[in-house]
Amino acid sequence: MIQRHPINLCQPDSMKSCGACCGLYNWQDHSRHTIESMLKHQTELFYSLKSYENLDSFWTLLNNNTANTKLFETIYNCEFLGFVDKGHKRVGCMLHPSVTGCPELRNHCFYGARVCSEHFCPGYSCLKIYEQTAVVRSVDDWYLYGLAITDIDFVKEFFRLAENTMGEGIKEERLNHPAVIEALADFFRLKQDWKYKSGKNRLGKYYFSGAEYNIARIEYKKNGVSSRQVMTGYLSAWNLSLLLKMS
Ligand code: SF4
Ligand code: SF4
Repeated sequence: MIQRHPINLCQPDSMKSCGACCGLYNWQDHSRHTIESMLKHQTELFYSLKSYENLDSFWTLLNNNTANTKLFETIYNCEFLGFVDKGHKRVGCMLHPSVTGCPELRNHCFYGARVCSEHFCPGYSCLKIYEQTAVVRSVDDWYLYGLAITDIDFVKEFFRLAENTMGEGIKEERLNHPAVIEALADFFRLKQDWKYKSGKNRLGKYYFSGAEYNIARIEYKKNGVSSRQVMTGYLSAWNLSLLLKMS
């Protein structure tokens, strides 16, 4: 990848990476277990190829064997997404030139080599460097990392409220403190572990119906609380713990 950005959000380090824009989570069943199984299958098949000359048959074979259905039809789920390291810590493009040595091989995928190599998701431009740093430093797991780094609102709103509560901006050097990293990790884990989340036809705040998607609203009033109460209560607690840990 051409280094146009200070942090490589796609492949930040040896512990994790992201493949969200290649369709990683775009499945009705996007549980870790299911996605991991699919990735392993794609990876094994890809690395069993004796040459890259018949990649179209690889594509067809995988398509025929996929039982899972897509969440959002207009997003392409690329069959060339897999694990790109032996320890299966990093997901990524198995056709990437760093894997195959051939830049043009990505023309076998729907987007083509140019789109694949030039695409940078909104995380690169919308998240501030300290927000990117916070996610990269505190999450060391490919499944959770891709969920967190692509949820711009989730990250930005969290820091906006934290800054408002503290009455000052976040200083990047504060993100080095182990207790702060732990508090951040606790927050980002909500993307995966929040006990009230709905897994059905949903990804984060979005729900899908074929080529349509909308923002899902939680019916707080029905449950007797306002959304403001929920957010304020949660974030106040987090900020308090963060400040205490930093003092
Ligand atoms: S969603 Fe963003 S961070 Fe993730 S692989 Fe795509 S461009 Fe990289
Ligand atoms: S070929 Fe393109 S769409 Fe497929 S995994 Fe690689 S970068 Fe993603």
